Parts: sequence; C-alpha cells; structure tokens
Amino acid sequence: MSIKIAVISLIQETNTFSAKNATYEDFKMQGIWYGQEADLNSRGSNTEIAGAISYLRSQSCEVIPIMRAWAMSGGILGDDDFRALFQPALEMLVSLPALDGVMLNLHGALITQSHDYADAEIVARVRALIGEEIPIAVTHDLHANVTGEILEHADILIGYQTYPHIDQADTGAKAAKLLLDLLAVGAPIQTAISKIPLLIPAEVQIIKSEPMLQVRNLADSYLSDRVLDISLFPVQPWIDVPELGFAVTVTGTLAKLELLKIATEISDKIWEIKEQFEVGLVKPADAIVRIKKGNEKGRSKFSILLQSSDAPPGGAAGDSAALISELVKAGPDFNVYTNLVDANAVVAAGNAGIGGEVELLIGASLDPRWSKPVFISGKVLNLGSTPILLKGIVMNGQEVSIGNWATIDCGRGLIVLVSTEPAPSFDPATYESVGLQVSKADAVHVRSCALFRAGYVELFDEVLILDIPGPTSPALAKIDYRRAQRPLFPLDR
Ligand SMILES: [Zn+2]
Repeated sequence: MSIKIAVISLIQETNTFSAKNATYEDFKMQGIWYGQEADLNSRGSNTEIAGAISYLRSQSCEVIPIMRAWAMSGGILGDDDFRALFQPALEMLVSLPALDGVMLNLHGALITQSHDYADAEIVARVRALIGEEIPIAVTHDLHANVTGEILEHADILIGYQTYPHIDQADTGAKAAKLLLDLLAVGAPIQTAISKIPLLIPAEVQIIKSEPMLQVRNLADSYLSDRVLDISLFPVQPWIDVPELGFAVTVTGTLAKLELLKIATEISDKIWEIKEQFEVGLVKPADAIVRIKKGNEKGRSKFSILLQSSDAPPGGAAGDSAALISELVKAGPDFNVYTNLVDANAVVAAGNAGIGGEVELLIGASLDPRWSKPVFISGKVLNLGSTPILLKGIVMNGQEVSIGNWATIDCGRGLIVLVSTEPAPSFDPATYESVGLQVSKADAVHVRSCALFRAGYVELFDEVLILDIPGPTSPALAKIDYRRAQRPLFPLDR
C-alpha cells in the first residue's frame, strides 16, 4: 500500500506596519485552490507545493493536495478572512481516510488579528485533527519568525537556504524527503530551535554576501548523515510581536539536546558578529549629487537608487514620493527612471493621451505617513495595461499585473512610471515593458530590499541605499516597535 501524504500550502508574509490589513481578496487575486486544483495550478512552478508533490510522486506516494493559497506581502490578516481561507482545508482533512503524513508549506510570518504566530496556529489545528501519531513536516520562508510553539506540533521544520529566494521547490522536495525518511526509518528525525533577540536589515540578509556567508558556511560545516538540515531565519524585521528575533533550526536524527547544542553554537556566532549587520544609507539629495558628479567626470556608471524603505515585496504601498521629490528639486540632468503607485495620476495621464501635457500632484495617495505629494509637469510618453513579464531569476516567466500605467517625461532626464498597482521594480523588465530602455538610463529607481540583486544581477555598478523613512526601512532602531520583547538588538545596544 502506498504512503499517503496530505499537502497544504498557505503563504503570506505579514508586515504589521503596513497601511492596511490583508484580506481574503488579496489571496483570491493570486488564486485560492483546493483539492486537485492546488496541484494542477502549481505544477512546474518554483513553489514548495510543486517541489513537494513532485518529489512525493517520484517516490510512489499517494499525494492528497488540500489547498494552495498565496498573497503578496501585506498587513495583518482579518480573523474572518483567515477562517474563510483555512476552514475548507480543515474540513477536507477531517474527511480523509487514514493518512501517513502531512506537509505544510507556510511562510512563517503570517499574523492574523488573533494570532501573532498564525503559522503555529495552523500547525496546532492540523495536529488537533490528525492526532499525535502522524508526522508533520513544515517548510518556511527564510523571513519566518519561528518560535518554539510551532515545534510543539511539527516534527520537522526547514526553510529556504537562499536570499534572494530561488529554492522554493527544492525546499518543498527536501522537506518531503525528510518526512519519508522519518516514516521509513522510524528513527526520530526532529528539529531543534535556538532564537536570539536580534533583528537585521533585509539588505544584509543576502546569503552569498558577508556577514551572512560566514554564518551559512559555519552552519554547513555541521551537516552530516545525522544532521540533515540547518536553516537560518533572520526574520523579516517589520513585525511587531512579542517573540521576535533571529532563529536557527537544526534537523536530524541526533538527540534533541545535541541538535539544540548545534543551533545554539551557530546563534552564539551570529550574536558575536551582530555589529557587522549594518547598512550604509545615503541621503537622497547626496545620492543625486553623486550620480551627477560621476556623469560630469565622464564615468558611465549605472546606479540603482534603492528605496528599500517602501518595498512592496515587503508589504509597503510603493507610493512614497520622497525620492521623486528630490529628483524634481535637483533637475536631475541625468537619465533616471522612477516608479510610483498613483491611481489618479494614471487617470489624468490617460485623459491627456500620449503626447499630451500634464501637471499633477503625485504620491502619498495610499500611505501618507512617510512622504508628501510632489508637483510634477511633463509629457505623457506611453499608456497601457499590459502586465510585466518578469525575466530575472527570482520569478522568471511570471506575469505581474500593475493595473493601468502611464509614463511621464518630466524633462531634464526624469521619467516617472505611474501605475495603479505596485510595479515589480526589482526586475528591469518593469521599465522595459513600458517602453523604457534600461541601457539608456544612468540610474533607475527600485523599491526592493534584495530581490533586485537577482533581477538586476550584473547590470548595476553601484547601489545607493536611500535614507528615507518607510514601513520597510532598514533603519530598525528608528522603527516604533511597541509589542516586541526588549531588550532587542539593535534597538537596545
Ligand atoms: Zn522571504
């Protein structure tokens, strides 16, 4: 008789500083699939569920796909929305004949109105339904806020090994293999966790760069035939919940105490080098002067003006006008493409038509906490509603709708892309798709923390990380945490 594994995937990264709460509709926009649809619609994609299902089938298991729902990062999920999403999965689970194991693909930083650790709540509810005997394997995003609670209900927990993330399917397959090994051997494969009160900016969580690289190398040095996975969870820092920090999990067949010893040794090392996780920030006006001066000296550098503090992939609105305002003030007298979410501006540009002149106040239309609207005037270059076809390695081939959009030439080198939905500006395909050739720009404006390093890989000469406040700011010490446990580095030194 073949081994029966149920698979559930429910993924959203919550940012508690987002301007608005997440809803059922945010998931619906990306597709909520139950039963066979969860399998059919995910097949071939670089997702945990696709990787898990394909590995399980390759081992002749009977896979029971239960659900797949994913939403773009955003605010706290409402209780009713959470219930509407997850209740059908629980009902399917309870109606199933005997299972051998359950695979749960979760983000690890989902927060609902009532649950600060909603992923742990999901695992607890599944555990309550299936009893204590059936093993559960969980996968998480590297940005998960893992706590001991989830490991009271899950046997195995592992996360992505990459950032920018490119190993979603591999992580699903790896967890599936661990789950089958656990069932086959009968020897307990288990996960231990060590967590430290440390937050680090997303900009310095890049696994292949220092200081993360030495942590990853240290972790890898412990891997053996009894230490099967070590995952680093530097946590996405924009969540304000009591138990917040950098976690390390170690999964293997050793005794729990021995696994815990390894996790603690690695987290001790992270604590020791915590001062190295610093991000150098540049004031927008200074960044503009630097590019201008470079151009005068005749160097043809390609710069990324990185507004990581307003990154939609981290749950921000993408409507801060802070950089555009400085560019307007400065000239800028070099070729720069910028982007901004502003639905009214798109309508006004549409009314003017291609070639028409517009005078507009743009920006701060969704989240006015961080910037003021800025006055621009210019000529409408292009209008459209075609989605962006991503070509960077992160989500290669995926289409992202930015709603309706317009490009406006403000003169002196400044071109603004306005759209009704956030543009995936971490990928050069965004500007290319609206008719702007990235090779002709001296600088591009990107709203992302790290994804752009995969999107613009080898295209840029320098990254200027801008010192601008926002809901995904790297200046963690300035963020107004109210519920997180203290002391917490770097808030308390
Ligand atoms: Zn992530």
